[in-house]
Amino acid sequence: MKSRLEEIRAESIAALREAASPEMLEQLRQTYLGKKGRLTELLKGLGKLSPEERKQMGQLANEVKNLFSNAMETRKEELLEQASLLASHPDLTIPGLSVATGGLHPITQMCYDLNDSFRSLNFEIFEEDEITSELFAFDYLNFPPDHPARDSMDTYWIEGTENKEGAKRHCLRPHLTGGSVRYLKEHGAPARFVYPGRVYRNEATDARHERAFFQYEALIVDRDFSFSSGLVLVSTILERVFGRDVPVRMRAGFFPFVEPGFEIDMQCQVCQGQGCTVCHHSGWIEVMPGGSPHPNVLRAAGLDPDIWSGFYINIGLDRLVMMRYGIDDVRLFHSADLRFLQQFK
Ligand SMILES: [Zn+2]
Repeated sequence: MKSRLEEIRAESIAALREAASPEMLEQLRQTYLGKKGRLTELLKGLGKLSPEERKQMGQLANEVKNLFSNAMETRKEELLEQASLLASHPDLTIPGLSVATGGLHPITQMCYDLNDSFRSLNFEIFEEDEITSELFAFDYLNFPPDHPARDSMDTYWIEGTENKEGAKRHCLRPHLTGGSVRYLKEHGAPARFVYPGRVYRNEATDARHERAFFQYEALIVDRDFSFSSGLVLVSTILERVFGRDVPVRMRAGFFPFVEPGFEIDMQCQVCQGQGCTVCHHSGWIEVMPGGSPHPNVLRAAGLDPDIWSGFYINIGLDRLVMMRYGIDDVRLFHSADLRFLQQFK
């Protein structure tokens, strides 16, 4: 009887491992433990054994029964797990869902493109804090003490930072140019660098003006730097950004921190110079004021104006983006209207 019990144990466990469905497991339970099952039948012979043998065989039979039951439970769980895996298995033939990846804001993209162009011409990229002082925003830049830009109608002053001299008031930077003096004070000359960022003006908004906007300024300081070299630089940058030659023209301009000053206009790319509402039907868009740093600015930066000269350009990022995509209202860039922004992904 012992050998037959051992035989049943080995056979039944092997059979359970092979079982591929809950129905087959139930069938095996019947085969071994059912009313006419093989183990049940075998145990009917226990009565013919001696009490000693009956005890031993009874114990062994219980072991075989428990082993079988445990193995059956384990197999049942395995089968359930397989079934649920199969049920959750993705159908690879279904078309995928598109993932929302987002994209760069068109102004950020323009800023990066300009960074690339300037970097390729050996410019360094410099960043300055958005809060600056009257010293850097106006005094160092040759703005006279009564200049209207110092007025709170134009500049956001920070309350509680005034002092008697008036030169140390803090403000949101109304332009980037103060950053150039800061850079030159730290690094000296010769220098070529760009310093992009957001600037703040306390003014009424319209289709071409915003209270906060991005600027992108560049400065070269060197010995005998000529305007014609500057104009070549401007054409090179515009050609890289727009991927084609963009006609430019230079006019005289006035800013306190330059001497002489100029305005660079580019051909309106919305109408290709034909005239449209964006360019006020002139065919030109003012994109880059600039000039040669004023001797007082060079002195403020610790440089001798008899030795050093330079070339400032302040690139209107918003304007360039308007030109790139033919957009006619600058306020759209800051409107956070996703329907507008998603077009640039
Ligand atoms: Zn136009």
